[in-house]
Amino acid sequence: MSIQRPQGTQDFLPQQTAAWQYIEEQIRALCRRCGYEEIRTPIFEATELFQRGVGETTDIVNKEMFTFEDKGGRSLTLRPEGTASVARAYAENKLYGQTPPWKLYYLGPMFRHEKPQAGRFHQFHQFGLEVLGTDDPLADAEAVWLAWTLCAKLGLSGLELRLNSVGCPVCREKHRAALTEFLAPQAAELCADCRVRLDKNPLRVLDCKNEACRRLTLGAPALTGYLCPECREHFAETRAYLAELEIPCQLDDRLVRGLDYYRKTAFEILAPGIGAQNAVCGGGRYDGLVQEIGGPPSPGIGFAMGLERLLGALAGQNVTLPLPAPPSHVLIALGPAARLRGARLAAELRSAGHVILMDLQGRSLKSQLKFADRKQAAFALILGEDELAQGIILARDMRTGEQRAIPLADLGCRMPLT
Ligand SMILES: [Zn+2]
Ligand SMILES: [Zn+2]
Repeated sequence: MSIQRPQGTQDFLPQQTAAWQYIEEQIRALCRRCGYEEIRTPIFEATELFQRGVGETTDIVNKEMFTFEDKGGRSLTLRPEGTASVARAYAENKLYGQTPPWKLYYLGPMFRHEKPQAGRFHQFHQFGLEVLGTDDPLADAEAVWLAWTLCAKLGLSGLELRLNSVGCPVCREKHRAALTEFLAPQAAELCADCRVRLDKNPLRVLDCKNEACRRLTLGAPALTGYLCPECREHFAETRAYLAELEIPCQLDDRLVRGLDYYRKTAFEILAPGIGAQNAVCGGGRYDGLVQEIGGPPSPGIGFAMGLERLLGALAGQNVTLPLPAPPSHVLIALGPAARLRGARLAAELRSAGHVILMDLQGRSLKSQLKFADRKQAAFALILGEDELAQGIILARDMRTGEQRAIPLADLGCRMPLT
């Protein structure tokens, strides 16, 4: 039997990678303009990093990690998300000792062993950013603005920002007591996951997708009603910046995020057109994370965007990306001597920045012209033994079919041909 790619993975063929590259370039350009710099961390990390950094009560850690042992018996895990790795790198490289804040972004594959279903893959790709070393609400607003602007610039419409504050341990303690009291009488009716959460992290019962749990939590006490003065102020300032940036937001009590280390700001950006899984971006503040994995207390805010989701939303809304197609030329060299000269000519033109395609199979003039047509080349540059002897090359305009002779020595300075 022939070998196939592993379940839950995808091949991206050339007709798809153009869109990926376009989106990645938009991301990099926007990050650059906002002062975010790229960080690259390993694809795998010590398993403990995710147990501590992502949280042991989360589905990610409980059910979805690709974990394996290396030859020395150490437990390693393919990264299921990016934030824990960035926080680890921040702590390990002592970035906190240098002038804060650090504005970092990453782009790359993540791995989760989720049940295969539409739009979910074992290997998927995320763009994420993290601002470490400041709890200024402007950092929160700036991150939201970047995510929002990226989605809008790519052409998504009907975007919706959901915003909440999940407070800090001080406010959460008070809220936890109220929430537990509210949920306790109905504990038996909650789903199995939520009965565990009720003990470990009752806040997470609020974001359970189970219908029964959603019904039982209607009217549950909202965390925003329990915010301490500092968290209340932070939430108000964040909203004031967002209003100034003209990003409309909807407050959403149920937005508590799946991860334990989140503090204060939590947000999601939804895009209609991709069905139930319509969040293209999720993020928030995680002031407790760096400390959790062994660094000094350092505030942080970040988000992650699933690129498959983003592409799904663009397709769902029938957005056509303006994929750049620089003019290309097909160099048709016929006969051994012309091919030799043609190879050098192609190298010279490519070095000068032009897109030059050349036949690699010794095909006839006719089939090479067909090839030029298929590649939507602007010009076919035809060099036969006769042209070579005369020191010229024929430039054939592929739209009009018009043909003119150009001295070989002049071709370089005549490019690009129009
Ligand atoms: Zn608080
Ligand atoms: Zn539940």
